[in-house]
Order: sequence, then structure tokens, then C-alpha cells
Amino acid sequence: MSAPSKPLPKPDPVTQPFWDSLKAHGIQIQKCNACGEHIFYPRGLCPHCFSSDISWEPASGKGKVYAFTIVHRQPNPAFAADMPYVVALIELDEGVRMMTNLVDVEPDPEHVKVGMPVEIVYDDVNDEITLPKWRPQA
Ligand code: ZN
Repeated sequence: MSAPSKPLPKPDPVTQPFWDSLKAHGIQIQKCNACGEHIFYPRGLCPHCFSSDISWEPASGKGKVYAFTIVHRQPNPAFAADMPYVVALIELDEGVRMMTNLVDVEPDPEHVKVGMPVEIVYDDVNDEITLPKWRPQA
């Protein structure tokens, strides 16, 4: 019996450019042309000024850990082999925050710190989906 599969994102017309940029290993996020704020998660209206004049721009792929937790129990058996693992809220250099996994680090509070500088890594899950994960900056 094969291992159960993990749930994956389902791109829609609003989020498709984000997933396409990850697939190309060059993360892009939205920026509002009316007020200049960066936007994440992708959406059709700016959450700062409600403008629909939004464009996609390359992001730096750098950020820092804003908050994290270490998962030791997970009811979904698809994640059993990964435990323990780090779920982190990353603040990108552009100012937006992304919930994600922190990888290439020991999953314990001795090695994961709030404020630690991180960089994106692209996890090619299949031909359609690449997930943005983050690791400590070298
Ligand atoms: Zn705006």
C-alpha cells in the first residue's frame, strides 16, 4: 500500500501567476499600483486601499522568521514521515508574511529562532505544483 498523499494547493485564476512563478523558481508576489503596498496571499483587491489595479513583481526570496512552531503530532498520516517539522510564518523582505515550512534545519528551538534570516527553496512536488519552503540563509 502506498503512502497517502498530502493535500496540495488548487490554483485558480487569481493565484495561478503565483504558482507559475514558483514552478519557474522565481517567486513573484502582488503589488498594488495605487498605494504601492505588497500583497500576500494573492487576491483581486488590495487589502490596504481596495484598488483592483494590482500587478505581479519578482520578490527577493529573502526574509526572516516571524513566528514558528514545531509539529510533533499530525492527524493526517501523509505527514507522518516528516515529523517533527517546522511550520513558520516568514516575513519576506517585501513586508508580507507567508505561512510555510522551514527546512534544512534541526526542528528544535535551539536551531530555529525568531528573526533568523531565511531564503526560499522551491519544492517541486509534481509537474503542476511547486511549494515555497524556506531555509536558513547560508
Ligand atoms: Zn493598495
